[in-house]
Amino acid sequence: MEPFRPAGLGDTDGPGTVQIRKLVKSFGANTVLKDINVDIAAGEVCVLIGPSGSGKSTLLRCIDGLEQIDSGVLRVNGEDLGYIEDATHYRPLSRTDRRRQRTQIGMVFQQFNLFPNMTALENITVGQTLVKRTTRAQAKQRARELLTRVGLEGHGNHYPAQLSGGQQQRVAIARSLAMDPQVMLFDEPTSALDPELVGDVLDVMRQLADEGMTMLVTTHEMGFAREVANSLLFMADGYIVERGDPREVLANPQEPRTQQFLKKVL
Ligand code: ADP
Ligand code: MG
Repeated sequence: MEPFRPAGLGDTDGPGTVQIRKLVKSFGANTVLKDINVDIAAGEVCVLIGPSGSGKSTLLRCIDGLEQIDSGVLRVNGEDLGYIEDATHYRPLSRTDRRRQRTQIGMVFQQFNLFPNMTALENITVGQTLVKRTTRAQAKQRARELLTRVGLEGHGNHYPAQLSGGQQQRVAIARSLAMDPQVMLFDEPTSALDPELVGDVLDVMRQLADEGMTMLVTTHEMGFAREVANSLLFMADGYIVERGDPREVLANPQEPRTQQFLKKVL
């Protein structure tokens, strides 16, 4: 089967791309990702769906470098993040390269993971000054711009506990963007939110997509998949079972496992 390529997008190698070949990842005896092969093009928005426990979060964590892969090739932004031909030929990145790589990938989690003892503004400046070595004044200026961009102008002095879940998640997105990532990963970014707060977060993500950010998103928001995504990827049992145009896959899934899953969630 020819791999699905969404039309009208950028390169599949270089900045803003993800290439995965024969990726395997286990936890002890549990092989969660068995043979993952996928290309994400620059500017692509890819929504990842699949049953609970199918390895969606694990895949995003591997791409972000939070988990070490067992074998396979993982290229992000045109650079090898891990490259393993077989058990005896392992070429990990140096620590410096890994650290630099990780700043070029942004990740947003279901539970926001803001620093609770820092204001919204401090949450957004801390990585810039520590990792990117931006001056405090520049970092603050950038943080204010980003707060405005996510619709939270004037909320810079609020602590996470003083913000709604939707506002916290938008601060988390702004914090990621402050590192100037070329790829953004979202792991169920709206699943912890009250329904009335979901829309504001999805609007920010939609805006980011319109600006050409490469995004990998696990979500139950099939409306977002239909309207914003360029591709929909269904994972089950450690494999990518189906990938295609979101509207086509949702309306007319080809694989029985995709059909069964969508019957339950749609
Ligand atoms: P999903 O996000 O699709 O629900 P996950 O990637 O969270 O799935 O989990 C896939 C499988 O990997 C599950 O069986 C889970 O128990 C296991 N798993 C995930 N993280 C760990 C870990 N740190 N240690 C051991 N097992 C893990
Ligand atoms: Mg998950």
